[in-house]
Amino acid sequence: MTDQSNDIQTEYNKLKDQLKTWSRQYYQEDSPSVEDHVYDMSYRRLQEIEASHPDLIDSDSPTQNVGGQTLPGFNKVNHEIPMLSLGDVFSEEELKDFIDRLDKNYPEINEYNCELKIDGLAISLRYENGILVQGSTRGNGTIGEDITNNLKTIESIPQKLTRPIDIEVRGECYMPKSSFVKLNEQREKDGESVFANPRNAAAGSLRQLDSKVTAHRKLSTFMYNVANYDDLETNTQAGLLEELKDLGFTINPTYRVIKNMDDVHDYIEYYTQRRDELSYGIDGIVIKENDLSLQEQIGTTVKVPKWAIAYKFPPEEVETKLLDIEWTV
Ligand code: NAD
Repeated sequence: MTDQSNDIQTEYNKLKDQLKTWSRQYYQEDSPSVEDHVYDMSYRRLQEIEASHPDLIDSDSPTQNVGGQTLPGFNKVNHEIPMLSLGDVFSEEELKDFIDRLDKNYPEINEYNCELKIDGLAISLRYENGILVQGSTRGNGTIGEDITNNLKTIESIPQKLTRPIDIEVRGECYMPKSSFVKLNEQREKDGESVFANPRNAAAGSLRQLDSKVTAHRKLSTFMYNVANYDDLETNTQAGLLEELKDLGFTINPTYRVIKNMDDVHDYIEYYTQRRDELSYGIDGIVIKENDLSLQEQIGTTVKVPKWAIAYKFPPEEVETKLLDIEWTV
């Protein structure tokens, strides 16, 4: 091994370990020690190293696994159809490249659905005959935590659908900004540690062994996906949202079907300016191929769908603390 490849291997291992530590604090302990942007930039660096040195890619790399592990104390739920993460971009140029690439590879694409990226955590709800029988977290994507009783305390989650169907519906559970402020004020008064952000507060509140605690935390949901498209009548992402609404779910009404990058730009501008007025936190925009059969054709990697991408907002306060590593490439 040359000195240079030795350096890269060292940097790679160091980065991987650091990202795993941050992931444990974020997903298991609901207590991140760095801003998301710091995590994202280090993750990006890991991706760059893997792209230029594919021989280094380890199966335990954060790029190969959906973050999150199950907590002890909860029964485990097997996600027969995995719950994936999302690829991300951090500028409109990168977003345009993503869309151009997809349009080139799939000329039949003619529209995308833009949605807000809700800053919460992914949940899955399974209904039999229209009755809620199980609710779970994403966990590591294939094994999540059974949090049925906790989810049943959330008002926006229907316990009975408008039709007696079998369906598994997926979406985001979040803590409204007002509940977050109240919760932290109360915790401060009680001498307890405060949550770093509404996302971690929502995660901590959902993974409670006592569902009365969850009930007090005033969580809410927006659903945006189903495990199996065969359970739907529609064939578009926008239609899927409307079908979920008809079944009794709360969907986020701000979605917009768009044709090209100019439309995406307008959507991003619009919600960047109005972000603070929303009663819930968002950390970006998600752009999804609108046609569900094309989504299936385009497929997924082990970690993310290839037919969607998250555009992440720039950090509100840029933290200068970056990983103490000498960049060698
Ligand atoms: P992600 O949060 O970046 O994106 C994927 C998730 O977006 C989905 O699983 C879903 O839960 C959510 N989502 C919200 N709205 C959606 C919509 N409309 N459509 C589809 N999905 C929607 O990815 P992740 O894997 O959950 O988490 C990784 C991110 O978590 C990192 O990019 C980083 O920002 C953060 N993180 C931070 C730390 C830290 O220490 N600060 C550590 C680990 C992870």
